[in-house]
Amino acid sequence: MATINLENIKKIYPNGYEAVHDISLSIAEGEFMVLVGPSGCGKTTLLRMVAGLEDISHGSLKIGEKVVNEVSPKDRDIAMVFQNYALYPHMTVAENIGFALKLKKLPKEEIGNKVRAAAELLGLTEWLDRKPRELSGGQRQRVAMGRAIVREPSVLLMDEPLSNLDAKLRVKMRSEVLKIQRQLGVATMYVTHDQTEAMTMGDRVAVLNSGNLLQCDTPQNLYDYPI
Ligand code: ADP
Ligand code: ADP
Repeated sequence: MATINLENIKKIYPNGYEAVHDISLSIAEGEFMVLVGPSGCGKTTLLRMVAGLEDISHGSLKIGEKVVNEVSPKDRDIAMVFQNYALYPHMTVAENIGFALKLKKLPKEEIGNKVRAAAELLGLTEWLDRKPRELSGGQRQRVAMGRAIVREPSVLLMDEPLSNLDAKLRVKMRSEVLKIQRQLGVATMYVTHDQTEAMTMGDRVAVLNSGNLLQCDTPQNLYDYPI
């Protein structure tokens, strides 16, 4: 498990636009940190920098004791869940979940065991032989989570993972996502534009606006001392 440390992180896109200004933030071992703010405030940019999908323009990113600015995404021990699931349509649920392990050339039996354990945790056991198109939105989102957690990452990143679900399912999935995160004890950064989601899920909530970190505190303290 690991802590995540962002120190004076900046993002300047190639067109000169500064999307993230000098943000410092740390996420403790096992902590569920929510990044919230309006569209365009820099949440996704920040998450993508942690994932290694965007270069960091200035500042340092540490995971555990390691400065990872220059470490390539595949060596960062990070898994990310996207809003649009990004499942492989021609693969079964089991193949989708196990794909990263296959790339790592783990033995077949070990992959099978890990995939079954992840499926169990996510309530997908009966669906392992199905294709994504045969699943509901909630089940697809679970597969996307399965694909992330099967690698036992030390950091879990989620970018609006529930926003394609209908309102009722979205509320139900909040507690399920949290339950799984608690079981794994994995440091998590979770992006949403939904304030209620942020306040019900976060151990702490980082409030962003126009590329700035306005506040970072527990939901209780944010209620007691609103901006
Ligand atoms: P959020 O996730 O909070 O909606 P983003 O991180 O996606 O915000 O975007 C932050 C700002 O950076 C937005 O103004 C967006 O238009 C801009 N932006 C995002 N990607 C790029 C890019 N590749 N080049 C230039 N500007 C970008
Ligand atoms: P989000 O769903 O997070 O709001 P967007 O629709 O803003 O995402 O962005 C989708 C993609 O377009 C991202 O890869 C982002 O980097 C890129 N992008 C967003 N804004 C700009 C921009 N102003 N210039 C160039 N690329 C951008």
